[in-house]
Amino acid sequence: MSRYLSLKEYLLNRYGKRVQKITVALPFTCPNRDGSKAWGGCTFCAEGSKPSMLSAEVPLRDQIREGIERAKRKYGEDIYFFVYYQSYTNTYADVETLKEVYDTALEFDGVVGIDVGTRPDCVPEEVLHLLSGYAQRGLEVWLELGLQSANFETLKRINRAHGVSDFVDAVLRAKSLPLKVCTHMIIGLPDEGREDVIETAKLIASLPVDGVKIHPLHIIEGTLMANQYRRGEIKTLSMEEYVSLCADVIEILPPSVVIHRLTGETEEDRLIAPEYCSPKMKNKVLEAVRRELERRDTYQGSVNPFNHSPSKISLSISK
Ligand code: SF4
Repeated sequence: MSRYLSLKEYLLNRYGKRVQKITVALPFTCPNRDGSKAWGGCTFCAEGSKPSMLSAEVPLRDQIREGIERAKRKYGEDIYFFVYYQSYTNTYADVETLKEVYDTALEFDGVVGIDVGTRPDCVPEEVLHLLSGYAQRGLEVWLELGLQSANFETLKRINRAHGVSDFVDAVLRAKSLPLKVCTHMIIGLPDEGREDVIETAKLIASLPVDGVKIHPLHIIEGTLMANQYRRGEIKTLSMEEYVSLCADVIEILPPSVVIHRLTGETEEDRLIAPEYCSPKMKNKVLEAVRRELERRDTYQGSVNPFNHSPSKISLSISK
């Protein structure tokens, strides 16, 4: 029995076949790097989270074509695709530029969705309406909003340069349109304990969020955190600590929330710590989370964090 709703399972149920993400890199930056919100970026961020095998200098059409060809060689011809605009802030341009970029995905057969990674303070109405136009034409459109933590002090500490309110506002505006929202949270941020992690999970559970990506804090070469880690100012969680907190979060998330990711993966030559965030450890972490839920005999949504029931809500309304 599956104890949580993985993206793979969700996509298989919805499309009846494998759906492969084709990750691309755009020549964009981020308002947290270019000075319009802050300088230097989030302290954990390496090159806007761009996978090292991608280059924004390669034309977008070529990146998508090559990604599709690679996926077909690996998984066969009978698959669908999502184009995933992952690195930096993929809504940080004028609407005409963004339209050109998203339209490019539609040129390829088998593309059933797009997935757009961005910041919660970088989704103006005109961009949300542009994205919802693709959903109205039948594409599945996911908006990935980085939150990382519901603790504002943590957000300041890691130089996110946005607040929790920006996230709530972005989710509510996106969900007034036919868009799906996936949010990112990091477990193990500096000076955070279990209570902070639970609070972040509760905030996500309280909002109409459709999906979540959960990462352990991991330290990557070239980031501000790499310096803090080397100076001994921050540390990372052991795999046991991470697995336990991850299970706590899964228990709180409503059963309908699609879990897009449950661990972090960074190539070994760029990963400083912890070692369980290397690609070769991915399955071990997933297996450990599964075993932890089995040991507890719990599953996604088995904890109601708000301690209310429909009858209590209707009673309070009728007073
Ligand atoms: S907002 Fe995203 S791209 Fe920008 S610095 Fe932070 S993690 Fe990196």
